[in-house]
Amino acid sequence: MWTFENPVRISFGAGSLDMIGELVRGRSYCLITYNEPIFFDISGRIAVAAGPAALTIDNVIPNPDFDMLAESCTLFVGAQPVPEVIVALGGGSVIDAAKVVASGGNGFDAVKRYLEDGSGEDTLTSIPIIAIPTTAGTGSEVTSWGSVWDTDAGRKYSLSRRSLYATDALIDPELMVGMPRELTISTALDALSHSLESIWNVNGNPVSTNYAVNAATEILDILPELVDDLGNLDLRVRIARAATFAGLAFSNTKTALAHSISYPITLRHGTPHGFACSFSLPMVMRSVIGASDTCDAGLRRIFGSDLPAGADRLEEFLVNLGVSVDKADYGIDDGEWRELIKSAMTGERGRNFIGSQERVTECLGAAKR
Ligand code: NAD
Repeated sequence: MWTFENPVRISFGAGSLDMIGELVRGRSYCLITYNEPIFFDISGRIAVAAGPAALTIDNVIPNPDFDMLAESCTLFVGAQPVPEVIVALGGGSVIDAAKVVASGGNGFDAVKRYLEDGSGEDTLTSIPIIAIPTTAGTGSEVTSWGSVWDTDAGRKYSLSRRSLYATDALIDPELMVGMPRELTISTALDALSHSLESIWNVNGNPVSTNYAVNAATEILDILPELVDDLGNLDLRVRIARAATFAGLAFSNTKTALAHSISYPITLRHGTPHGFACSFSLPMVMRSVIGASDTCDAGLRRIFGSDLPAGADRLEEFLVNLGVSVDKADYGIDDGEWRELIKSAMTGERGRNFIGSQERVTECLGAAKR
């Protein structure tokens, strides 16, 4: 028995940003984005197609934290009248911030309380979101949760509510053409991690695995080409489609061990999310080979029949992109690594992982790298 569900309507294609007027449909909207010049231009195009924003919140920084989100919610609540819809223009940080703002119509404290102890769900609000991703990686435009970082306390929360699914994801790969090399790599690796993590996952099902196999195969195939040809729109289209498929895959499974390991690494060492959640993938893959026939079958569709050789190829793929698989290069010593793996296995995402503690300890704990 299995179920697959995703309610987000996806509009995809180069130039599709101009459809935004049809999606906003004359409603008053709040634009959430970064305060950076390239986004001023895109915001201008949105204003031409959908009319001017009733409110613009542009305080978004990478990995939105309590302070930033409290400010965003205050700005939103202060608008009179409160806009009917939120348009989120940016990467995962912007789309996740939009999810928090949509929930924080009664102020950020209500969201914070809910994150910290699960109480007061009835005080959270819901506002429709139109997500326009400008990175090809997080899949936040098709998931019902958002990352919230409590930098001071060194914690990462996930705000998870069904109403956080965007009503629409407007995915225009033209918006991604200007992404620099490192951001292109880190975001694509985030999507690769979503794909693989949805395969070695207790919540996997045939539909999520199908999306994941398609996404991972594409990313492994085209990312090396894209990093040397960043302005190639055809490759941007393919990587954006792969990231969307990866998002659909993990929208139904959530992530697993590599993500569970990654959050403290980002918090303690400042490693960008896409690198933190992907450098351990070859080690995690080695540990899970043989754990389940279904998982092995999914991985074989990507890596061929020899899975240990596939894990080696995955490692080579990362290294060739300039991504180290050596924990020491992320500032992690043996003691911290052991502690990270132990707590990751019992963390919420780690419990989705189908592998055994014993094999993980063997493959990751004992890994020299
Ligand atoms: P981001 O949104 O943090 O943006 C990083 C930088 O990229 C910003 O400085 C931004 O200005 C720049 N940028 C974005 N688009 C650009 C473009 N088209 N051209 C040039 N520069 C551009 O990056 P991200 O990797 O998309 O998001 C990471 C965040 O998403 C993390 O907080 C992570 O935890 C979260 N996340 C959420 C989900 C989810 O399902 N909700 C999944 C994975 C990750």
